Amino acid sequence: KPKAEQNGAKAAGEGGKTEEEEKEDKAAQSLLNKLIRSNLVNTTNQVEVLQRDPNSPLYSVKSFEELRLKPQLLQGVYAMGFNRPSKIQENALPMMLAEPPQNLIAQSQSGTGKTAAFVLAMLSHVDPSNRWPQCLCVSPTYELALQTGKVIEQMGQFYPEVKLVYAIRGNKLERGVKLQEQIVIGTPGTVLDWCQKLKFIDPKKIKVFVLDEADVMIATQGHQDQSIRIQRMLPKSCQMLLFSATFEESVWNFAKRIIPDPNIIKLKREEETLDTIKQYYVVCNSKEQKFQALCNIYGAITIAQAMIFCHTRKTAGWLAGELSREGHQVALLSGEMQVEQRAAVIDRFRNGKEKVLVTTNVCARGIDVEQVSVVINFDLPVDKDGNPDNETYLHRIGRTGRFGKRGLAINMVDSKFSMSILERIQEHFNKTIEELDTDDLDEIE
Ligand code: ADP
Repeated sequence: KPKAEQNGAKAAGEGGKTEEEEKEDKAAQSLLNKLIRSNLVNTTNQVEVLQRDPNSPLYSVKSFEELRLKPQLLQGVYAMGFNRPSKIQENALPMMLAEPPQNLIAQSQSGTGKTAAFVLAMLSHVDPSNRWPQCLCVSPTYELALQTGKVIEQMGQFYPEVKLVYAIRGNKLERGVKLQEQIVIGTPGTVLDWCQKLKFIDPKKIKVFVLDEADVMIATQGHQDQSIRIQRMLPKSCQMLLFSATFEESVWNFAKRIIPDPNIIKLKREEETLDTIKQYYVVCNSKEQKFQALCNIYGAITIAQAMIFCHTRKTAGWLAGELSREGHQVALLSGEMQVEQRAAVIDRFRNGKEKVLVTTNVCARGIDVEQVSVVINFDLPVDKDGNPDNETYLHRIGRTGRFGKRGLAINMVDSKFSMSILERIQEHFNKTIEELDTDDLDEIE
């Protein structure tokens, strides 16, 4: 493990996880979202814009032409299949491309076009005839940096004079070297070393500084400190941009420390509701009975695709085995899998190659599979203190207004304890969950 990261890791915190594990979870989730996302997330929510100078006119663009991009970049944008700016890009791009450059804090969920926006800003501000680093982008992990790098390469495919280098551990350069690439993307520790100790980069020549995935970044104190130290080396004239998928108070405090005089753009995620969902519960005595009930349900109704949630890896593995023995095509998503493997499993499921996806709570948090019509809680979601995890429940079975298709949720109850969890979930949402008799399934559908 890199030393700086070890220093950042504190004793086990909430949920028995160290700071470092917490960060890795968040980073893995963010990466997973990137890997499975093939297009923009749609939203009907309005963007909130807070301008640094409220008297200056607010520009927004409805087309990429209006931005007067370099022709090579416009070509790159179109080659990526973008027709018009995304909601957040409509406002963010004019701010980022303005003269003089403006600072920006932007927050919106994964998949709304933040990366594409700042990549376009970096590429626009580069002077390719200058052979030194001019744009600096820091990401929390190597894998996330790599994903951003890929976007730079795609968008810059008709602008080959612009070069990119990764400031990541393992990329060892000879001492005394001066980088010639115009864009540097990397993790905070290495970027700091390259600016300060090794002097591969002259921070005074940086024109655009991007801090991506701020919410993941601040999960470790070490990364927070390193990011701030990098920022302090940059000239006053440097444009500073910060992006985050979520906006807790802690992200906000960090953002204000690191981005002077910012404009702020926020796009809330669409609220999920249980209004279009039929919710049932089934009473059983053991996991074998739960499995039997599941088989009965499968025998009685046509299920296009279902997701089944279990509490532990062990149960998930067991259930996936039993289901495939019954002849179902089952995909299993499990904690020990690499992020890329998980993305591949979700992708296959999305494309209908498997009809059932069995997963543990942790694994599936934050993934959206819109076309799933049936969600089965083989185990109800509880938090580490044994209380109902209402948020997870809602996210699993809830739908956003936009994809407001009707859905079916079935909860398996196998003890007094799980029954009480169910009752509390019911109370929390003030929505009735009806009992289902799996020996007589006429009522369902
Ligand atoms: P974020 O950084 O907010 O997660 P991305 O920039 O990665 O979002 O964009 C999410 C997905 O949408 C990517 O597949 C990207 O190629 C695509 N995308 C981004 N901007 C546009 C656009 N203006 N039109 C169409 N697709 C876009």
